[in-house]
Amino acid sequence: MTYPSVYLHKGKEESIARFHPWVFSGAIARKDDGIDEGDCVSVYSYDGRLLGNGHYQVGSIAVRLLTFDDTALDAAFFTSRLTEAWRLREAAGLVRDDNTAFRLVHGEGDFLPGLVVDVYGSTAVVQAHSPGMHFAREIVAEALVALNGAGIENVFYKSETTLPFKAHLDPVNRYLVGGFTTDVAVENGLQFHVDWLKGQKTGFFVDQRDNRALVEKYARGRNVLNMFCYTGGFSVYAMRGGAEQVHSVDSSTKAVRLTRQNVELNFGETERHQAFDEDAFKFLDTIEPEAYDLIILDPPAFAKHKKALRNALVGYRRLNAKAFEKIAKGGILFTFSCSQAVNREQFRLAVFSAAAQARRRVRILHQLTQPVDHPINIYHPEGEYLKGLVLYVE
Ligand code: SAH
Repeated sequence: MTYPSVYLHKGKEESIARFHPWVFSGAIARKDDGIDEGDCVSVYSYDGRLLGNGHYQVGSIAVRLLTFDDTALDAAFFTSRLTEAWRLREAAGLVRDDNTAFRLVHGEGDFLPGLVVDVYGSTAVVQAHSPGMHFAREIVAEALVALNGAGIENVFYKSETTLPFKAHLDPVNRYLVGGFTTDVAVENGLQFHVDWLKGQKTGFFVDQRDNRALVEKYARGRNVLNMFCYTGGFSVYAMRGGAEQVHSVDSSTKAVRLTRQNVELNFGETERHQAFDEDAFKFLDTIEPEAYDLIILDPPAFAKHKKALRNALVGYRRLNAKAFEKIAKGGILFTFSCSQAVNREQFRLAVFSAAAQARRRVRILHQLTQPVDHPINIYHPEGEYLKGLVLYVE
């Protein structure tokens, strides 16, 4: 099936021949009249060869390609892509009674650019990042509920902050199917309240699952500081790992409350955990040296786009330097960057500079990345965003 046409300049078909799913606005030579935000379009090379079908949008990325042939972008298409995505999560061992939280669709990584779906038990939270996916939301919701064996009963649509506001789509966050049942999801046997109604992103950061499990392994007997704790994921794993003390810090009062709730949900009232509603930089300034021998730094993306790169690198260096100055001898630092604009080398260099500034002996124990439910499409390396280092500090 073909849609209204978009023709590219000569040579601009090359990246698409290598299955890169984006068409930049500058690559377009001409297009049919009347093509609007979110429309399905067919993309052609300068000499009229069909390259694929995708969603059109006004902006620098003008088309997000969903197919590299003439497959129709209909209900059958979405069912097929979602089924593949589900199979991958099953194959990776993520679908279990003791693990009900995972990302089912990770945009380009699941060949569905513009779409994110996180699953929390019987609820799927859908986020559209493109007008095309906004218009497809009902089809996506129906396909999710119909997914064989998935047990998805509720679909919450949450795109108020992810769609380009200039598109004037005025999305409303709401249930497309079902309604509220429970907000408790299970990750590796640990329970978490997930606030998809009011929380950040889809309510929980499933991308740190494997890295949290690694914190659990190192936590025994340690005094743990979990900076930028959000819902307390790392804290809860550190507690299960036998940490002596866990302190969680976040500048958001809501996040601190959620962290306390999640610790209580798993361990009841406990004096092993305390949460502080404070700025991370200020908190690090005030603590006694040597107070902590396991520190986790998982800040929000310091660079949301390329232009902010320089400042972001300064931010990572400052933050990590503060941690290196304070961490106890024999301490372990888990440090992350989720800025897509900062690459692995740049992040490592920022952390290296911080270590040198604090004059500590530092060794890299692990180099961390995003988990299998955030797969990187090999033709779309931009999909790699999460970087982490586990460091032994003497
Ligand atoms: N580690 C978390 C995710 C962190 S998201 C997890 O595993 O789920 C980043 C968090 O940093 C958010 O909760 C945000 O409220 C918090 N934050 C942002 N700026 C901050 C600052 N300057 N000091 C402390 N927390 C901050």
